Parts: sequence; C-alpha cells; structure tokens
Amino acid sequence: MKLTNYVNGKWQDAGNRKYAAVLNPATGEELAQVQMSSAEDVDEAAKAAKAAQKSWAKVPAPKRASYLYKIGRIMKERKEHLAQVLTKEMGKVIEEGRGEVQEGIDMAFYMAGEGRRLFGETTPSELADKFAMSIRAPIGVVGLITPWNFPVAIATWKSFPAIVAGNTFLWKPATETPMMAYEMSKIFAEAGLPDGVANIVFGAGSEVGTAMLEHPDIRVISFTGSTETGRKIAELGGRNLKKVSLEMGGKNAVIVMEDADLDLAVEGILWSAFGTAGQRCTACSRVIVHEQVKEELQKRLLAKMESLTIGDGLDESIKVGPVINKEALEKIHSYIEIGKQEGAVLLAGGEILTGGHFDKGNYYAPTLFTDVSASMRIAQEEIFGPVVSIIEVDSFEAAVEVNNGVIYGLSSSIYTQDINRAFIAQRDLDTGIVYINAGTSGAEIHLPFGGTKGTGNGHRDSGVAALDVFTEWKSVYVDFSGKLQRAQIDNEI
Ligand code: NAD
Repeated sequence: MKLTNYVNGKWQDAGNRKYAAVLNPATGEELAQVQMSSAEDVDEAAKAAKAAQKSWAKVPAPKRASYLYKIGRIMKERKEHLAQVLTKEMGKVIEEGRGEVQEGIDMAFYMAGEGRRLFGETTPSELADKFAMSIRAPIGVVGLITPWNFPVAIATWKSFPAIVAGNTFLWKPATETPMMAYEMSKIFAEAGLPDGVANIVFGAGSEVGTAMLEHPDIRVISFTGSTETGRKIAELGGRNLKKVSLEMGGKNAVIVMEDADLDLAVEGILWSAFGTAGQRCTACSRVIVHEQVKEELQKRLLAKMESLTIGDGLDESIKVGPVINKEALEKIHSYIEIGKQEGAVLLAGGEILTGGHFDKGNYYAPTLFTDVSASMRIAQEEIFGPVVSIIEVDSFEAAVEVNNGVIYGLSSSIYTQDINRAFIAQRDLDTGIVYINAGTSGAEIHLPFGGTKGTGNGHRDSGVAALDVFTEWKSVYVDFSGKLQRAQIDNEI
C-alpha cells in the first residue's frame, strides 16, 4: 500500500516518487510505503491551501463547524478500525488506541461547538457614539507538524480549531506514523470538506518541515515534538517571522507524600509510567517519594510491575506494547549504563527483551531505578521509554523543589490526603498540568494542554486556548457620531 499526499482534495498519483517503509513496531512487518515529499510538494499544498482559504474564511463559522460534526461522526462509526490501525503503526495497546481515537472524536464535537461561539468581546468606547469590539479573525494557511506518539489526537487538537476558525492547513505527520493521517484524509474527503481546506504532506522533518517554515504563505507553525526539534523550529520560524506554537518534551514526576494512599499511588505510577511504553509526553519518569514511605512504595510498585504483560498491543491482555523503533530501543538502553555509572540502583528491567516474538519487535522491559539523586542524568533527561527513577526526599518542600528542578514543565502529580498541601502543590508545581491524587497522564480535551519552560513557548493545544494559536485578535471601532473624535485627546477622563 502506498500512502501519497492529500492535496486539494486529491491523493497524489503514486507515480515515480520516493517512499519509505512504515513498520509495525510490534512485529517488524512492513505495513505500507509512505511518500517522502520535497519542497515542491509543500509549495503545491501551500498554494492549494491559500487558494481555498479565501472562500473558507467566508463560510459562516457554524457551517464550518458542521463539517467537524460530520468528521466526528465518521470517526465514531470507524472507531475500532482506526484504533487497530493506530496500534499497528504506533504500538500502543489497543485500549489506549481506542482512547486516543476517542480523544479525536471528543475534539471534533467540542470544536464544532465553537462554531457557534468563537467569542470576542464588546466593550464601551471612551468616546460618545462610538462602538468597540474585538473579534477572532482567521490567520490564513497554517502548518501543523506532529509526532508519532499520538498519531491522531495531537493532529485533531491542532487541525480542528484551525478549520473552525476559518484557516486552511497543511499537516506533516511523523514519518513513523503516516497511516492515521491517511485514514484522516479519507474522512476529510467523505465529510465533504471543501478541496484545499485540509492538506497532508508526508516526509522528513528536515525537508518537508523546513520547507513549511520557509514558505511565505504559511503564517503559523504549530509543532509538537522534542525540545531539540522545537528549538530548531523556533529559530527558523523566528527568522521567517512565523507565529510558532511549540509543545515539547517532559520529565514528569509523581510525588508521593507520607500520608498518601500508597496503593492508589502505585496504580497511578504504573499507568503513567508504563502506559504507551513510557512514550507519552506526560509519562511519569520520576517518582519523588517521602523517606517514610519509600521502602513500602518501592515494594508494592515492584510487585505490581511483575504483573505487567508485554507484547503486541493488538492482544487485549497486553499492558505494555513495543517502543517505536530500534533507535528508540538503543537510546533507552543507553540510559541504563548512564544511571548505573552515576550510582543509581537498578531494581527491575534494564534490558532489551529478546527471544520468541520479542525478536521481531522493539520491546523494552519496564525498568525501575532507585536511590536516584535529582541531578543525575536519568532524573533530568527525557528518556522516552518505560524507565522510572525513584528519588527520595525528606519534606514536601524538597519534593516541590525536585519536581521543579528540571528544564521541562509539562505535567506533575502529588498523592497526599492533606488538602492544604494539595492546594500549595497546585500553586507551586511549575508545570502546565497538575494532578492531585492521579498520575501524570489523563488530559481532557476541553482544558488547555501544554507546558512551561523547555516544554513550551507559552501557547496551548486543546481547549478554547487552542483558538489563540489559530486566530488573530482584530479590534473594530465603529464611530456613529458623524464627526472626528480623537481618542485620548477629545475626551480626557
Ligand atoms: P521529533 O521532534 O523527532 O519529531 C516531531 C515532528 O517534527 C515529526 O513530524 C518530525 O518529522 C518533525 N521534524 C523533525 N525535524 C524537523 C525539522 N528540523 N524541522 C521541522 N520539523 C521537523 O519528536 P518525536 O520523536 O516524533 O516525538 C517525541 C517527542 O515529542 C518527545 O520529546 C515528546 O515529549 C514530545 N511530545 C510532546 C507533546 C506535548 O504536547 N508537549 C506531546 C507529544 C509528544
């Protein structure tokens, strides 16, 4: 199967183009061939998107939203199929695949509702017989660059607000996971979205992504991926005066205080650390635990880790799927030596799984380090795999300091029964998302999603906040006095 670009409502002829293989990380089997596009392909898509945007912006927003309702309904009808495709290409277990598709469906219906809101403000003018308001105006053609770990949800966080607000878009999915994007192209076409509103260009970040950043007709780049890539995008985007929204890496922590419900904390840690094989941007990779309960927490966590089943995520009994590819496997494994050399103690895992079906896929054993100090590399750097470090602290204040002592700021969590501490924590934890008595993953689409410091640059995906990325505020003054009225001069207050 050849996955070709979707531009101006048509799939490109497979023809004589460059392709790369798409592999199932659970089995190594080739699932498809994906087009590796060039700067000319980006140009063609940007031109189509630009031509479509003029008329799309004039379609009343509730009508634009009606396409999102259709898209959401088709996704719902096709949920199981989409989840299966997602699990095959990305590896996350099928239950999580279904959850991710549901997130996209929720986003479709939620953003469709915005078609009848897109609220601006009306406000009094300082002058008589003058009216003032601010409205959200579409920006034009927007560029979306997405990672492989959430092949559909993140794209819906970006593309749905973009189109309801009257923009057209060009989406570059990650090369590892183009199949969900291809499925979405079919859904866009079936929903009758006018040609050129949604365009998908497959290919390498260095080529397609760079061409998007340099294209004069693309006004916004909304990116989710690693901090390293985000920095390059910010630099190039800055030079080209793009509006750049960045959602990047994380080093998320669960804090367990001495008064915590330990079984609840263990469940939250397991779900946040080993779900999606530790490859969520919100994955828990640090457990900051009070000295009084460290041994007990460790014991209970280790016991539960033994029951984690590892294998192909299509099998309903599996709890931990593969990691995305061989490079990821090697990168994760390299941190085991780094951790040991720095003095951390390996309690479980620390190995690439081999033998039988493991040989075909990319499987890493759920791993637990203890006696980790906050400054070690395994406690500072994003490993992006099923590896957790236990860091002991002697107070709540120390826990907050350790939580905040990393370059990232996406998600944090605290387990405590003390309501005062819980509120202090939500105030003082320097992350875009804070959970009280729940793990670090579990975002809902109607709230803003994003992080502080090295995780983001102040923008948010999802929620109404996402509209800020894809709209310009336009201020409109209507003077019905019939005379020249000068603000600040004719009406000193
Ligand atoms: P990545 O940075 O390698 O790639 C992300 C996307 O950027 C891909 O589509 C890639 O092709 C493209 N890209 C690569 N180089 C580029 C360049 N020079 N110019 C333009 N585009 C380029 O990230 P990944 O490995 O796909 O995803 C994992 C990372 O994403 C992790 O760091 C994870 O924490 C992060 N992530 C963050 C969030 C969030 O919302 N904060 C959500 C999911 C994933």
